[in-house]
Amino acid sequence: MTVPVLLPLALPAPYDYLVPKGDHVKPGEFVVVPLGPVEYIAAVWRRPQGEAPPKIERKRLREIAEILDDVPKLPPVSLDFADWVAGYTLASPGMVLRMMMSAGSAFQPLAPRYGVRLEGPPPGRMTPARARVIEAAKNGLIWVKSSLAEAAGVSPGVIDGLVDAGTLIAEPLPDWHAMPLDTSRERATLNKDQAEAAKALLKNTGDGFAVTLLDGVTGSGKTEVYFEAIAQCLERGQQALVLMPEIALTGQFLARCEERFGAKPAEWHSGLTPSMRGRVWRAVAENKAKLVVGARSALFLPFPDLGLIVVDEEHDQAYKQEDRVAYQARDMAVVRAHLGACPCVLSSATPSIESLVNVEWGRYRHIRIETRYKAAALPAIQAIDMRVNPPERGAWLSPVLTDAVAETLARGEQALLFLNRRGYAPVTLCRKCGFRFECPNCSAWLVEHRFRRRLECHHCGKFIPIPHECPSCGAEESLVACGPGIERIAEEVAELFPEARRVLLSSDLTPSIADLRETLREIEAREVDVIIGTQLVAKGHHFPGLALVGVIDADLGLAQGDPRAAERTFQLMSQVTGRAGRDAIKGRGRIQTYMPDHPVIAALVSGDRDTFYAREIAARREAGMPPFGRLAAILVTAGDRAHAEGYAREVARHAPQAEKIQVLGPAEAPLSVIRGRYRYRLLVKATREADLQAYLRLWLSGVPKARGDIRLTVDIDPYSFL
Ligand code: ADP
Ligand code: ZN
Repeated sequence: MTVPVLLPLALPAPYDYLVPKGDHVKPGEFVVVPLGPVEYIAAVWRRPQGEAPPKIERKRLREIAEILDDVPKLPPVSLDFADWVAGYTLASPGMVLRMMMSAGSAFQPLAPRYGVRLEGPPPGRMTPARARVIEAAKNGLIWVKSSLAEAAGVSPGVIDGLVDAGTLIAEPLPDWHAMPLDTSRERATLNKDQAEAAKALLKNTGDGFAVTLLDGVTGSGKTEVYFEAIAQCLERGQQALVLMPEIALTGQFLARCEERFGAKPAEWHSGLTPSMRGRVWRAVAENKAKLVVGARSALFLPFPDLGLIVVDEEHDQAYKQEDRVAYQARDMAVVRAHLGACPCVLSSATPSIESLVNVEWGRYRHIRIETRYKAAALPAIQAIDMRVNPPERGAWLSPVLTDAVAETLARGEQALLFLNRRGYAPVTLCRKCGFRFECPNCSAWLVEHRFRRRLECHHCGKFIPIPHECPSCGAEESLVACGPGIERIAEEVAELFPEARRVLLSSDLTPSIADLRETLREIEAREVDVIIGTQLVAKGHHFPGLALVGVIDADLGLAQGDPRAAERTFQLMSQVTGRAGRDAIKGRGRIQTYMPDHPVIAALVSGDRDTFYAREIAARREAGMPPFGRLAAILVTAGDRAHAEGYAREVARHAPQAEKIQVLGPAEAPLSVIRGRYRYRLLVKATREADLQAYLRLWLSGVPKARGDIRLTVDIDPYSFL
């Protein structure tokens, strides 16, 4: 028998291998196969229905080297999903499989972890320390050695001594993922609006595929509402997955889950150790992990019995992955739900235009919650016109904003200042000769990070120490920082409010997820007065003491010329100001802008979200932009400008004529060089009816292969146009 086997490589299609005599393999099983001189872990795939095995001479086929029957197999729905994602994104199925397999130690035999339990007779020699251990271990549970030592206040050696004496015995630790979640615990009493929303949601998430947009203002208690759907799913005995755009958000969520269900869910994100990744992957595949919270890649975990997917903050751009397989996790979550016949909940206070239009089209159901759970009202938002109330020279905070901060602090409440720009200053130049520091590998300025004392490129990671003299004219002490980054705002706040307890939160300054979670906890516990942060603090968090949110530069995102600039700015500004006044205190938002009349700013100030969305949707419809039309970006890069441009032109020349499809470009990308590679873009614009993927496949199959270091990548439904 031969079977198609898919290697986790960029191979275009599965390879055929012989199954060793006497063995059987099933689709989804993991095997080791030779490819050339190297062996790879691969998954057994299915032959598409009706397709005969290829006619390859038997002696040219190689045999499967090993069947990994200790590794749980991929459920059939994972195979469907991989095929679907590959077909949609134009990635090779092997690349998608590779994402499904990015599971650390899952493919190695699991070393059981041992703990200790009180079982044997007391030791011959009793000491006070030993007595304390025995006392602590009396409950008969299996203890992790280090926690038992800690609980008894002894050194780990004491524990080992008791193991040697036979008083404690070593036993495999139970898998914490198997900790049962208890759906019958006392839950929050939902208020009237929440109860209505929950009732409607439970109807939609009963069983079978259905997508619901849970659209509730910030602080309305969407989490409490979708917890009901999770409980319902767990009661059916099925698995539930909650996707979050930012790992920073998961900490509070884990705690809330624990409160609600009596145990923590499994986590899945880049911060896990390889061994933890392996354990979680296996626990999911074995249907032991019933509730998983994770970043977008959690969608590719091998759930055999997924009964609910929640996409929290569904509008968030972080759901779009750009490298390797370019996919939009929110959209793929809907696909995964469809393939697995399970319900999907998209939750947001500022839904994506795509989701709202899907509601209009009757594809998604819509549940709205328009009141906050505790606070009487949403924060009152005012624009600060920077032309009328400019900051002092060399400062970035308007007096209107600093007054508001001072008032807030005087009342003992918290203030958050938000600027979506890491570092100290975006540009550094020489006062004498005008020289500006540019990245040698990218068409981008080097950003000063004063805290780390260096100039950094945000595109390739290149950095240099901040020099004392201008590298161009040699002038000393002539360098000036231009424009603000978050560190500079922190400096200004420190000068203005030296007494206030301040914290600066930016992804580059936060060493670990544990530290970040600790800082967020301190904010929640009101151990901090002023929070200065980038989008790390903008989203989802619940800070009960936060009264004022100040946005330093609301115009930053509007300057970007892409079709979603207005939508994205509106969402980010609503989210960040929505952190204020979520509990008992009244919230205020202050937005610094040079364009107070811009529709985005006007909508934020008036709180008239529906008018803003209606306008945006009309504009998209008019322009045939997503979701009314479809886009694909083709990016050509090469180490040599002429090669990149030449190939991009050649690709364009091969574009087939099609009535419903337009090819724009090539044009030099706005970010024309990254990591020393020149970049050219083509944009493909299609109507909704056109089969964009079929068109691209036909087109690209006719393009001569890229030679040398030239690379072509396709991004379906692009979110970045840089
Ligand atoms: P959202 O996600 O809509 O912004 P959350 O679900 O985070 O709102 O709820 C905001 C805060 O209000 C949370 O601290 C939550 O615990 C609390 N909360 C919401 N609904 C209830 C409820 N029915 N009972 C008790 N606390 C609630
Ligand atoms: Zn660079």
